[in-house]
Amino acid sequence: MSSFVVALDVGGTSMKGGLVTRSGEVLRTDRRATPRDEGPAAVVGTIRSFIDDLAAAGGGTPAGVGLAVPGLVTADAALYSANIGWRDVPAADFVPLDVPVMLGHDVRTGGLAESVLGAGREVSDFLFLPIGTGIAGAVIVDGEPYGGAAGWGGEIGHIPVFPGGETCACGQIGCLETYASASAVGRRYSARTASPATAEQVAALTVSGDPVAAEVWDDAVEALSLALATYTLLLDPSVIVLGGGLAEAGPLLSDPLADRLRKRLTFRAAPPLRPAALGVNAGMLGAALLGWRAAGAPDAGATWSLDVLKSPRVA
Ligand SMILES: [Zn+2]
Repeated sequence: MSSFVVALDVGGTSMKGGLVTRSGEVLRTDRRATPRDEGPAAVVGTIRSFIDDLAAAGGGTPAGVGLAVPGLVTADAALYSANIGWRDVPAADFVPLDVPVMLGHDVRTGGLAESVLGAGREVSDFLFLPIGTGIAGAVIVDGEPYGGAAGWGGEIGHIPVFPGGETCACGQIGCLETYASASAVGRRYSARTASPATAEQVAALTVSGDPVAAEVWDDAVEALSLALATYTLLLDPSVIVLGGGLAEAGPLLSDPLADRLRKRLTFRAAPPLRPAALGVNAGMLGAALLGWRAAGAPDAGATWSLDVLKSPRVA
């Protein structure tokens, strides 16, 4: 068996690739633009050539390939992505002939990495919640991401939290994402002040005592506390792992959120909130785990250490 797998985390604007050994050493990472404007066939072609180039850099045919992709996905096919525009692409279309491959949903694959070697390593049931441009969650049950009957599981960003609230881009009313995504925080502040702002700037303004920023921030915390109370009561997680851009705010987000979640739950303890451990590498590392599963080494990740991320060879 070859000594490495090719791992790819495919996003709407760029894709991050890596070569990862069975012992978890990241030999190489690289990044390439996702040619979304050129159509789905161009994206598939770019993924295919990126995999070929990474494999060549590793010195031969990989033991397996793991791919984290957005949208609806099974282990064997990318079924649908509104973002990329593809439908029913078989996994085999992404890889050279006879190389074993496994696909995973982007957020769930990041959650798998947090489960095996990150912030969820010591527990078996948790929520991985990256809060960025949008909000999606990875429901981790018994150490594995759970996608539900058809792959729609984990869409916590579109849980209605404020009935009669603002309309979401998805068409529903009062979704969590409409109030608490990083882009929503910036957008809602800008709408009130007519001055453009990012979530990071709204966080800084909140700290400096800006009342409008504080109100927008408070709405985000309130929306998150409602959604997380629902999640906690339904699935009883050991921890909730916060990631993505908004979690960069640290205690400004997690302190009031933990406080409100605790007050909301009366008959049970609130799960602790914990920052994600793998950052932007979660998807690529999760894809590497999928690659080793495809190669017939499902336990490869058991010995991996977070030190791989500190390796000087990681770009
Ligand atoms: Zn929505």
